[in-house]
Amino acid sequence: MVKAFIQAGYQQQSRGDSPAKVLVVDDELTNLRLMGDLLTPHYEVLIARNVAEAREVLRKQIPDILLLDVMMPEVDGFSFCREIKENNETRNIPVIFVTALSDEVDELKGLKLGAVDFIHKPISAPILLARVHTHLELKRRTDMLEQRTLIDALTGVGNRRAYDLILEAEWRRLQRKGSCLSMLIVDIDQFKLYNDFFGHREGDDCLQRIAMRLNQVIGRASDQLTRYGGEEFALLLPETPLPGAMELAEKVMTHIRELNIPHAPDALRDRVTVSIGVACVYPHKNQSPESLFMLADKQLYKAKETGRDRVCFTKETRESQ
Ligand code: GH3
Ligand code: MG
Ligand code: MG
Repeated sequence: MVKAFIQAGYQQQSRGDSPAKVLVVDDELTNLRLMGDLLTPHYEVLIARNVAEAREVLRKQIPDILLLDVMMPEVDGFSFCREIKENNETRNIPVIFVTALSDEVDELKGLKLGAVDFIHKPISAPILLARVHTHLELKRRTDMLEQRTLIDALTGVGNRRAYDLILEAEWRRLQRKGSCLSMLIVDIDQFKLYNDFFGHREGDDCLQRIAMRLNQVIGRASDQLTRYGGEEFALLLPETPLPGAMELAEKVMTHIRELNIPHAPDALRDRVTVSIGVACVYPHKNQSPESLFMLADKQLYKAKETGRDRVCFTKETRESQ
C-alpha cells in the first residue's frame, strides 16, 4: 500500500504490467529502424537520433533501459553515459552500448562508466533481445529489493528512509518550481498508556489500523504517507497551501474518531485520538528540508500541551528571495 512515490519517479522502477520502455539512441537511421523493428513487438520503444534528442526524451520520461551508440557526432555515447550516471534522476537506467568498436580498451571504458553491457554491430537479433530481456529483469529485481527497503514492515506505508528521500526530492523540486510544501505530523495520543494496558500486540494492531485509515484519507497521488517513527506519521503534501493542509488534517481527525478504538481506562479520552502539527513552507535554498519538520513538530508540541486531540498550525512561511 505504499503510495505513488515509490511506484512513480524516484526509483525509476519498471512498470507493473505495461511494457518496459526502451530508449534507443543512434545517429544512423538504419540502426534505429533495425532495433526499433526488433524491439517494438515486446517493448515500448523511444527513439533519439542524437544526444540532444535523447536529453529531450529524458526530460519527459525515464526509460527502463537505454541502448546507446558510441560513435555519434557532437556528443559521443561515452560522454552521454557519464552524464546519465551523474544525474540522480537518470543514474539507475541500465545502459547498454551498441557499438561497432571491438577494442577491449573501449569496452572496458564503457563498463567503467557504469554501462551494464555491450552489444556489437552488426547486430544479432537474438543477442539484442536476450540481453535487453536479461537486463530489464535484473533491473526489475533490483527495484523490487530497493522498494522493500523503503517500506515499514508493520504498517506497509513508507518508512523513515522513504520519508527522508521524499522530503529531500520534493524540497528540491518545489524550490525549482517556486511552489509550496505542506507537512502534517500525526501522533497518537497517550499511546504508551494504550500499550501498557492492552499489550504490545494490540498496540501494533492499533498502529496498523491507523496507518490504513490515513492511507485512505489522503487524496492526491502526490500526497505521501510515511511512518516517521514509533507512533508518529508524516504526511507530505506537495503544492498544497495551508488551507488545503488544514482541511486534510481535520479530515484525519474525523476519520480517526470514526475508527472508534477504545483507549486505556486512564487515558484522557475514552477513544484513541491523534494530535496533528501542520506547517507549510515555500522551499528556499537558504533553508534545509528539516526546517519544515521543525515547524510542524513545534505545532504538534503545542497540540499536546493544550490538551491533545487537536490540530495546531503555523502561518505559511515564504522567505524573501
Ligand atoms: P503523547 O500523547 O504525548 O504522544 O504520549 P505517548 O504515550 O503517545 O508518547 P510517548 O512518546 O511517551 O510514547 C510512545 C509510545 O508508542 C511508546 C511505545 O511503547 C509506543 N510505540 C512506539 N512504536 C511502537 C510500535 O511499533 N508498536 C507498539 N505496539 N507500540 C509502539
Ligand atoms: Mg554512430
Ligand atoms: Mg504519542
